Amino acid sequence: MSEIIALALFSGGLDSILACRVIQEQNIRVQAVQFVTPFFHDDLLQQEDEYRSYIKKKYDIDVLIRDITLPYLTMLENPPHGYGKYFNPCIDCKILMVSEIKKMMAEFDASFIISGEVVGQRPMSQRKDTMRVIERDSNTDLILLRPLCARSQKLTQVELDGIVDRNQLPDFSGRGRSGQIRLATELGICDYPNPAGGCVLADPVLSKRLQKYFKTDRKISPEDIRFLLVGRQFLLPHGGWLALGRKQQENSKITALHQSGDYLFNMKNRPGPTGLLRYGHHPDDWKLAAALVVRYGKKTENGPTAAVVCIEGPDKVFEIKTDPCRDEIGQWLR
Ligand code: SF4
Repeated sequence: MSEIIALALFSGGLDSILACRVIQEQNIRVQAVQFVTPFFHDDLLQQEDEYRSYIKKKYDIDVLIRDITLPYLTMLENPPHGYGKYFNPCIDCKILMVSEIKKMMAEFDASFIISGEVVGQRPMSQRKDTMRVIERDSNTDLILLRPLCARSQKLTQVELDGIVDRNQLPDFSGRGRSGQIRLATELGICDYPNPAGGCVLADPVLSKRLQKYFKTDRKISPEDIRFLLVGRQFLLPHGGWLALGRKQQENSKITALHQSGDYLFNMKNRPGPTGLLRYGHHPDDWKLAAALVVRYGKKTENGPTAAVVCIEGPDKVFEIKTDPCRDEIGQWLR
């Protein structure tokens, strides 16, 4: 019989590791796929090879990274099943990921898809009814197997064909983690990441910030999302977006995000935050951005005083001398 291959939705968390391992135990080859967007696991794009070797060495799982930012942004504008507590479209996020991995099945000659979902574990996307909705809307009825809770789910084709034996799979449900921790120990997995976390759409502060910008008429690009996730942010009166670094690492990140059309701000004679102004082509936005840079710059012995800010614009470099922005104005722009 030819080799049976499963494609796995992989998040790097314990449940997805276990889902891969229990299917491998049934002599099935598992190819894990970790989807990334600027909202989650974005950093993996810069270290794909290291990450793949790390996961292989640590968990004996073959993983590859796929960027799904573009379809994700389209979905996020209007998710048919709505948002969760914050800006997290969990049900549509899962539907999108399952749909995307389904498109990869032919490429890998895969017979089915697995995921680490556990019925009852998450309030939105892992309820019994929503798990059915995910299958239905991704058109993966019969080919989506959740190995950690399959015994309480409908039979899938690989089970009907005798390729996967559900009696050898665990039967987890609910929010408790003790079963997963026990199974991990049995499989010799003793070091794994904490559950959840890592998705900024479910972060109380960052999700609010993102939602505010998604409500404007502007089409948001992947570079814009990366911009919006760094430093202090201000929305200026003429439509400019301003990011200010709060520490050296953020200043470097902000400098690296500089793209054509942006304005880069730095104080000339005193240390201060690096500022990046995007979509800010009005001179009043330049002045306000400069005043904010001075406001968060290093104070002199005499308290807040005027300073010169050097601005690298799309077609010229210029300077503005300004007093610091008043706190109440800064608060109003955040
Ligand atoms: S928390 Fe984020 S990554 Fe996880 S399902 Fe929800 S939207 Fe998707």
